[in-house]
Amino acid sequence: MSKQKINKLFIGTNNSGKLREIKSLLPKSIKIYSTSSFNLRSPVENGKSFKENSLIKSKYFSKKTGLMCLADDSGLEIDFLNKNPGIYSARWGGRHGDFDKAIRRVYRELNKKDKNWKNKKIKARFICALSISYLNKKIACVLGIVEGYISDKPRGKNGFGYDPIFIPFKKRKTFGEMKPSQKYKMDHRFQAFKKIRKFL
Ligand code: IMP
Repeated sequence: MSKQKINKLFIGTNNSGKLREIKSLLPKSIKIYSTSSFNLRSPVENGKSFKENSLIKSKYFSKKTGLMCLADDSGLEIDFLNKNPGIYSARWGGRHGDFDKAIRRVYRELNKKDKNWKNKKIKARFICALSISYLNKKIACVLGIVEGYISDKPRGKNGFGYDPIFIPFKKRKTFGEMKPSQKYKMDHRFQAFKKIRKFL
């Protein structure tokens, strides 16, 4: 592990919800750069796991910018749907990243599996792989997880993605109903961040 303090970091995401959350977790002393300052598109995510996809992104953006890069890959696993959408979570929203469409697909797939699913506890988890790369070199790669259930209907307007349908264990509210500050303290990105911050 490098002892040198990082003072500049590129955040490799085009998702404004994730960028906001990652920024809020980083020390204020680090100057943050993002895709908007470099006008960069995202690479093709053809890895087979969250960790592989995260490394594809952090290496790609680091090589493009010459800066050390932090990237994440995340998604929602639903046990009843054989862990789908998993690494395809963004793709379930279609080309335009329509989160309502992705949520409708979750409910459609659950209905297809079992018309009575609303009377069952549908276990799910958000997973986040966070990686730091410098050019083609992996500096760190970790996984964070938050376990919970799928709500029988979407609730709340906060957050992004699948937040309105995810209820973390031991809570009543969906992530979509929580204040961002409450969600950020318990979610998968925070769990991953706790493991990776020693590298920053
Ligand atoms: P990717 O990591 O950019 O490939 O996309 C991950 C997708 O997973 C997002 O587009 C969201 O649909 C979903 N996702 C990841 N993290 C969260 C979260 O914190 N809340 C809600 N949805 C999330």
